[in-house]
Amino acid sequence: MTDAFDDATLRFYRGNAAAYAERKPAGGTLARFLGEMPAGGRILELGCGAGHHAEAMLAAGFDVDATDGSPEMAAEASRRLGRPARTLLFHQLDADAAYDGVWAYACLLHVPRDELGGVLGRIHRALKPGGLFYASFKSGEAEGRDKLARYYNYPSEDWLRARYAEAGPWTALTVERSEGKGFDQELASFLHVSARKPAA
Ligand code: SAM
Repeated sequence: MTDAFDDATLRFYRGNAAAYAERKPAGGTLARFLGEMPAGGRILELGCGAGHHAEAMLAAGFDVDATDGSPEMAAEASRRLGRPARTLLFHQLDADAAYDGVWAYACLLHVPRDELGGVLGRIHRALKPGGLFYASFKSGEAEGRDKLARYYNYPSEDWLRARYAEAGPWTALTVERSEGKGFDQELASFLHVSARKPAA
């Protein structure tokens, strides 16, 4: 597949990794995700940022593969975790039936619209049968940039459901909404999507 990242967005994270590391992300949905995971299960984290969520997963006894497309961010996460986090761009994921869960908090929202279906397909393939996938997005109607020049796909729920449907069969696909502030301190509306790959 073609490259599924936005240059200006990645540059932003590469240049602001240290500042990002000082900010604890929201993550009210993490406990529920972990509660639905087999004990000690293998979790792939995409766009792990400075590793706050991976740290909580490790503390809860999970086997975590923490990854981020920014080498500087992966270095911040490695420092926090005391073990290597990998540099991985979403479109480079080529695992097959390797993970019990994939956690992608506030990161796939940066995938260019045309590329999102392909990235979701790679995530579907990376999950074991019965595996659980969580991702969050900032909702909207059309792609755009925030005041920090970061690209967002800003999906509606219907548009997002169509991209998931393209990527493969899912069971129990749910979309929940919340309001919150991101790094830019602007109030935004979030979509939280949980989906399970059908059991074999
Ligand atoms: N999940 C972390 C959190 O909640 O703190 C970080 C979220 S931050 C808003 C988005 C992250 O996605 C950044 O760490 C950035 O480097 C990463 N990212 C952006 N585009 C990416 C891509 N194409 N492939 C992999 N990671 C990417």
